Order: sequence, then structure tokens, then C-alpha cells
Amino acid sequence: MKNHLSVYIHYPFCKSKCPYCDFNSHVRDGVDHARFLSAYEKELEFFAKKVGPKKVVTIFFGGGTPSLMPVFLVEGILKKIAELWEVAENCEISLEANPTSSEATKFKALRDIGINRLSLGIQALNDEDLKFLGREHSAKEAMQTIEIAAKVFENFSFDLIYARPKQTLDQWSDELRRAIDFGTKHLSLYQLTIEKGTKFFTEFQQKKFQMPEENLSAEFYEMTNSVTSDAGLALYEISNYSRKNFECRHNLVYWKGGDYLGIGAGAHSRIYFLGEEERSAITMLHEPLAWLKKVEELGAGIQKLEKISAEELREELILMGLRLREGISGEFFDSKKLQNLVNQGLIDVTKGRVKILDEARLLTNSIIQKLI
Ligand code: SF4
Repeated sequence: MKNHLSVYIHYPFCKSKCPYCDFNSHVRDGVDHARFLSAYEKELEFFAKKVGPKKVVTIFFGGGTPSLMPVFLVEGILKKIAELWEVAENCEISLEANPTSSEATKFKALRDIGINRLSLGIQALNDEDLKFLGREHSAKEAMQTIEIAAKVFENFSFDLIYARPKQTLDQWSDELRRAIDFGTKHLSLYQLTIEKGTKFFTEFQQKKFQMPEENLSAEFYEMTNSVTSDAGLALYEISNYSRKNFECRHNLVYWKGGDYLGIGAGAHSRIYFLGEEERSAITMLHEPLAWLKKVEELGAGIQKLEKISAEELREELILMGLRLREGISGEFFDSKKLQNLVNQGLIDVTKGRVKILDEARLLTNSIIQKLI
């Protein structure tokens, strides 16, 4: 919808850096949260003038670890958004949280100021793997936090990472079933990947651990899909599963090519400014203090702002849309390329919609490359 807007707020701090993480997260003592609140407010005001009147349909606090934000900071940002735009009555307002007991004590206060969806970074339900993943919480603490979240939020989700070194299919199936038993209506289940620039990347190169073979990864994925489906959680995106009407609406905006405004260090936006025909792609400065200073001086911490050409827009829509199980309209594609992939048993084209077949989902990136 043209007049709809989604807002993403990036909080760039964590207690420690996880060895697999390539997000824009930094470990810092003594963050001046009052100063950060002023900067978030200022940047929102800066963009409100450019974006014009809109209805905010989703807000997402991501990071970093947004559950480390003091409640007054989250509240101040929500108030500012409501001052600048109309906020839809059923606006989905999500916040990512780490499952530690100190963060759980904030859940009620966060709900009371408007957060209505909590996304917990659980990652594993056993201590050995949590330690390997560099997480600060124990399995017991994670499970207690899920129980608290379930009491406070009707809509909560949690993330798990699987296909870990030495993990067996049986262990994962057991862990996944235990996770589902908590009654969550949404799960994000990611295979462990080794990203450049992370501690795991170096350790993997030094052969300190081994990753599962490709065939085993495929088996992990198939099993994940079958266990979740038996439990009534439908796969709706490569790594996301939910009960009906509990899909993450904010992420759907990304995948369906909707407008979103990213505020905070390292955040991204894809947005049409008032009176402009071309879409803008914006990246904010990554380093939190550099971002903060630029906002204080100029009103926004922009690192790069460019207009997206029609061809780039088409590529982005394909890149995002094919992640969804419902696929996207066939109008974006070259029919010869499509037929080739249909013949290889990788995609399905029905009633003008192009979808990647479930059994080929792990090949999503290479299929997309072939299509664009
Ligand atoms: S808590 Fe999340 S954002 Fe922070 S370092 Fe770990 S994976 Fe990265």
C-alpha cells in the first residue's frame, strides 16, 4: 500500500560479540542513552519531512540487543513516531530480546508501552551448544524466559540455530519438538552459516571445527520442515514458520517490496520520498558514535543515499519475493530462464506465480542468480 510505512529501529549494542555474528553490533560500556534518544528522535524528524504523511503499520526494534535498551528509550522512540505519523490501530510492534533473567524483568513494562510482539534469540536448548555459539545465557535461563514471554505476550517468536557441528538429526528433531512444545506461534530456524569477518570464519579456516556436509544440511532442512508442519507451523519463508496470521508482518514488508525506513547506526531504508518517482536506498553510518555525531550535526547519520533504477528495483523484488513460499508474479521474469528452471525441477509456475519448490529451497540463492 502506497501510504503505508514500516519503521525499523537499530540498537547497535550487545553485551558480548557472538562468534558467528556479522550484524552491526558493538560491545560498549556506559552508553549515553539520553543522548541516543535525542538522536533517534532527530533522525525520525529529519525523515518525516522527506517521507510525508503515512500510516505506520509495523515497527521493529532490532539489533544488536534491543532488550538492553532502557524502557524510557523505547517509549521515547514510540512516542516520537506517533507524533510524526498516524500509527495503525493494529500496528505490529516487535522487539528482539535476549533470554536472560535481567532482560525478562522488563517484558511487562515493554508490553505496557506498546510492544506487542517479542522475538527471543534462544539459538539452542542445551548448554554445550550455547557455549559453542558464544551465548551468555544457559538453557535453563532460556526456557524460563520463554515461559515468562509466553505469559506476557500473545505474539512471541524465538530463533534457533541448527545444523551445528556434531549435531545429529535425532538431537535436532528432539530439540525442535521441545521448542514447539512451548506453544510459540512463530519460529525462525536458521542453519548455522560461517560468515566472513566473524570469529567462526577464522576458527573454521583453522579447522577447529567442521560443518555438516551439504547432503546432511539438506536432510536437516527437510526434517525441520516436516517437524514444524506436523505441529501446524507452516513454512512461509526460507527460515520462518508460523501459525496462520502470526507471520511477522514487518519482515513480510521487506520480502514483498514495501516501503521501510531504517533509523539508527547501520540501518537500511527502501523508500519513496514525497513527490519523487524513484525509490531511494539509504544506508546509515555503521559505527554508533560516528552515526550519533552526524545526526547531532546534520539531522541524519546517512552514509549513502542513492536512487534505485527500474532494473535494480526488479532485481530486488525478485531477490526478496522468491524467499517467500507464496512466490511472486511471473511478470518480472524472462520466460526462457523460467522454463529452464521448471525443467530442472527447481521452480513451479502456476497461475502466473513463480515459486521455488520446497525441496529446492536450500538452493534459493543460486536459483535467484540464474533468474537475474
Ligand atoms: S546477540 Fe545477536 S546481534 Fe549481538 S552479537 Fe550475538 S548474534 Fe550478534
